[in-house]
Amino acid sequence: MPTANETVLEIDLKALQHNFNYLKSKLQKNTKFLAVVKAYAYGNNAEELAKYLENLGIDYFAVAYTNEGVTLRNAGVKTPILVLHPQATNFNSLIEYKLEPNLYSRKILNQFIELTQNEKLINYPVHLKFNTGLNRLGFSVNDTSYLAETLKKTDAIKVKSIFSHLAASEDLNEKPFTLTQINSFKTITDKLSNLIGYKPILHLCNTSGILNYPEAHFNMVRSGIGLYGYGNSVKENQNLKPIGTLKTIISQIHTLKKGDSVGYNRGYISNSILKTATLPIGHADGIGRQYGNEKGYVIINNQKAPIIGNVCMDMIMVNVTEIDCNEGDEVIIFGPNNTAEKFAQTANTISYEILTSLSQRIKRVYL
Ligand code: PLP
Repeated sequence: MPTANETVLEIDLKALQHNFNYLKSKLQKNTKFLAVVKAYAYGNNAEELAKYLENLGIDYFAVAYTNEGVTLRNAGVKTPILVLHPQATNFNSLIEYKLEPNLYSRKILNQFIELTQNEKLINYPVHLKFNTGLNRLGFSVNDTSYLAETLKKTDAIKVKSIFSHLAASEDLNEKPFTLTQINSFKTITDKLSNLIGYKPILHLCNTSGILNYPEAHFNMVRSGIGLYGYGNSVKENQNLKPIGTLKTIISQIHTLKKGDSVGYNRGYISNSILKTATLPIGHADGIGRQYGNEKGYVIINNQKAPIIGNVCMDMIMVNVTEIDCNEGDEVIIFGPNNTAEKFAQTANTISYEILTSLSQRIKRVYL
């Protein structure tokens, strides 16, 4: 329970287990499962969740940056960790902490080979990413021969997996495009596996890919948002359980008269008697100004209370004129019944953004 002046993110680990089991039930028995725990496991705290998932038998983790992997190792996580976006400047800690880099360009590949050869390492596990249409990171199909030649010249590294990332797996209108990506991935991986003479793990699907393209699961899938309880359609959302509930309390209630204003820049002017509640959460916590001025709302005693005026750094004010409530009452910003996805939509954004924006000063509590 939140204590006075406290905002907490409650994380339901049983819901995480449910989502893991649900997504796993969509896979063939031997398909591996990689949990994407970058950005504090989408705001939930990666150490705690990774340890829990490790106990559930997860096969792999992925983080964006090396320091995120170091944090997991320091927390005692033993499972292999893929670093999706390493930088050459961090290679030493990457090796020290047994993290596995995504090598996505000729430059970073050669930098890593040089270092591993200097360190006299043998078969250091690396992952090769191909660009099949997202146009973000990755080798092109034309790089396969170059890669094979380069890899044959050294035993310092070994390709543990080849992967790519889908651009629009959640959007079935883009199915023809996604099918093109799947086909390119097949062509690339067949060609490269033949050239190097062994078959690394192959992976392409994120959560929406897992749910929409069962034919493209290959040997491993990568899920982030699905583990945290969000799918790509209302139907899938019904099978997943949001793991986080962001809650706070009412710090103070004011009764204002017609013409009074609320907050900075007098962002809201009351046009009748108005009861407001001030809550200890603001844009420094990840509730951006775009939620202000009656875009976003919170739930107090099962009723919607719109955010009025401008969002402050540490506070928001909500309209509780019609709500029977008192100072100290619990407030739900989002949770299983008023999802982060719905909350995010009020500010024209997506669940990923609201979850990953929650500041570290919000206490995480595990149920
Ligand atoms: N794979 C890669 C390369 C990613 O960047 C991400 C997330 O951004 C994921 C997988 C997980 O995607 P999702 O959260 O949609 O499951």
